[in-house]
Amino acid sequence: MRARTVGRSGPSHVTCPVCGYAFRASHVGTYVTIGRESDFCPKIPGRPSDGARLIRNGITMCPACSFAAGEDFGGLYLSFDERYDVEVRLEEDGLLRVFRSNSPPWLAFHAAEICGKARGARSRDLGDLCLRASWVCRKERERPFESTFQLRAVRHFIRSLQDENLVGRELSVTAYLVGELNRRLGNHREALNWYVNAGRTTEGDPRVAWLDRLIDKQKKLAEEQAA
Ligand SMILES: [Zn+2]
Repeated sequence: MRARTVGRSGPSHVTCPVCGYAFRASHVGTYVTIGRESDFCPKIPGRPSDGARLIRNGITMCPACSFAAGEDFGGLYLSFDERYDVEVRLEEDGLLRVFRSNSPPWLAFHAAEICGKARGARSRDLGDLCLRASWVCRKERERPFESTFQLRAVRHFIRSLQDENLVGRELSVTAYLVGELNRRLGNHREALNWYVNAGRTTEGDPRVAWLDRLIDKQKKLAEEQAA
């Protein structure tokens, strides 16, 4: 397996666009991956909890008000209404209330999902946040939370497939992920339907031949598991 380096570099001092708190954000830096799992979770050398932390660092979260986003805070502008909506949603959220003090690594993705909704993010992007949260939970062996985030990712991805006119690679990958996450959740029949849907979207496109192979492999696995 070929090792790859992924990541972004950014300023480590940021100001929260919602509450104005200035803080030092955890530096994302770069990290090496040695391939990906079948739901695209990066395999990172070293302890799984270190990998979870590296994935978690893709999100910046304000320690004062919990505003969170995958983008650099420096480039963010929120309208008055968006800011108000973010504040209300963060304040009313039950999981944040319970987990804010010990801040498990998945919490940043949960907060980013809440803030993304308030800012009118695409369902595709909300699904991606939940997917990444599920990777972090798996690396942290938080099985019930992993399933919760997989289910939320599936719902966002299905809404995206219905409403957001996805095309090309994004369409194929999203349909595949609905299948793969359903398989991981134990819904094998549902998974098989979605692998078929995903396969229909890739037909004849050599650029996604790798995805066709992955779909075939996971379809066989789901068939065995469904039997
Ligand atoms: Zn803040």
